[in-house]
Amino acid sequence: MARLRIAYARIAQETNALSPVRTELADFERTHLFAGAELHANCQKGGYEAPGFLKNAELSGFIRAVEAEGGVEAVPLFSAWAVPNGPLSAECFATLRDRLVAELEAAGPVDALFLVLHGAMNADGQAEPEAALVAAARTVLGDKPVAVTMDLHANLSREKVAAMDLICAYRTNPHRDHAKVGERCGRILIRQLKGQVRPTRAWRSLPLILGGGTTVDFLPTMRPLFRRMKQLEKDPRVLYCSLFMVHLWNDSPEIGWSTHVITDDAPELAEQLAEELADLAWGVRDVMPPEFPGPAEALAKVRRARLARAIGTVTLCDASDVVGTGAAGESPHLVKALLEATDLVSYAPIRDAGVIDQIWGTPEGERVQVTLAGKLDPARNPPLPVEGTLLRKLPTEPFGRVAVLDLGALKLVVTEGQPLAMKPAFYKDVGLDPMKADAVVVKSLFPFLLYFLPYHRRAVYVRTQGVSDFDAARELSFLDPVHPFDPVTAWRPIDRMRRGLVPRPAA
Ligand SMILES: [Zn+2]
Repeated sequence: MARLRIAYARIAQETNALSPVRTELADFERTHLFAGAELHANCQKGGYEAPGFLKNAELSGFIRAVEAEGGVEAVPLFSAWAVPNGPLSAECFATLRDRLVAELEAAGPVDALFLVLHGAMNADGQAEPEAALVAAARTVLGDKPVAVTMDLHANLSREKVAAMDLICAYRTNPHRDHAKVGERCGRILIRQLKGQVRPTRAWRSLPLILGGGTTVDFLPTMRPLFRRMKQLEKDPRVLYCSLFMVHLWNDSPEIGWSTHVITDDAPELAEQLAEELADLAWGVRDVMPPEFPGPAEALAKVRRARLARAIGTVTLCDASDVVGTGAAGESPHLVKALLEATDLVSYAPIRDAGVIDQIWGTPEGERVQVTLAGKLDPARNPPLPVEGTLLRKLPTEPFGRVAVLDLGALKLVVTEGQPLAMKPAFYKDVGLDPMKADAVVVKSLFPFLLYFLPYHRRAVYVRTQGVSDFDAARELSFLDPVHPFDPVTAWRPIDRMRRGLVPRPAA
């Protein structure tokens, strides 16, 4: 048999549609943009696929699949990954889409495309940007298979399912199986091309946008569902099960949890299992995530956590301004509360390019007076004047220019770009030791729990008001009633409309 050629690429960004900030090409360039031989080298054993983020992710997994299955030439295109943010500008989206097409053309004949997407991307002027990316690729590929991996926070839709041949989601939350998912998806694709399997698929869409408790895969509410998927895959006819728990802040009118099952030449089994998993997911809809306390109560918790503070620190998740879910990172609300909490040594980030411009010429050690926030999203992030000492200024790759302000007990890290405070290195790299703080603010919803393991003894979530609040999604418009915002008694009628089996009633 002739050697197979499979092109591989990534275009990934998770969009918070409520953010007024647009994602531009520069955001991808700043975070992660590799191509050709460099991308290929990064994805090999011993390489670093996503520097600063992950040693091995989906594309390294795909390369493992290529090595394991044999007889395949992996053809690198490019990998573009940006921090979650507002929608892609029309220009940014068009540039990435056109590059995918151009690089596929330049790659010469290939048998398939392996593509890493997030699954919850919005772009200006595009109703279904990720389906549109695949449609553009098909102008070169025709009907050759397109295998896609997605985050389990993706929003599946009829358009996506129709556009893509294989869809495989992460199976962990917080996510730690990127490479494994890439490898499994890659192996199914290669075996399909070799005629060893014949993938058949089914999916279901639930009118459910929030439930499942904390949605952590190994905690009691969701653990039985993730275990069930693993168990189902022991049957050799079951190639892959996915459960999507949605990115709540996406502008996607048919948003909802969904299930997707790939079987080997067993379409009825796929239908049956997609249905079973949908019922299980519907069964945990009333387990709500915990209500997060406001700043006063959250800081009282930090004060009470004496032992945690003595042997490490307390992470304070700014749940209303989670950059990891696409918020701008400009919120002053928690900063204000920490300024007033003069008995607690704390570190916090804030994004303010204007303040960076204003103080960049000031020598370190001098006093500065600045007004934070009120620039990107003034309605949600009102201006906050502060006065303190400029401790440090330094250029960084991921966050642009960074300045550290000493505001008394609070050390504030002002960033030019998105302050993705998710790892201890965010503070350590600017000279702040997390172990010396009573509380450090993170702008990550789940992943920080893993990264801060050696430092924090307690995590406290705090709610102020911002685009990553669960109920902020009420500002978006949905085509169907969705749980828990509306009373919904059954998922099947809405699923059938969403899958196009029955027409939507005229409005
Ligand atoms: Zn996710």
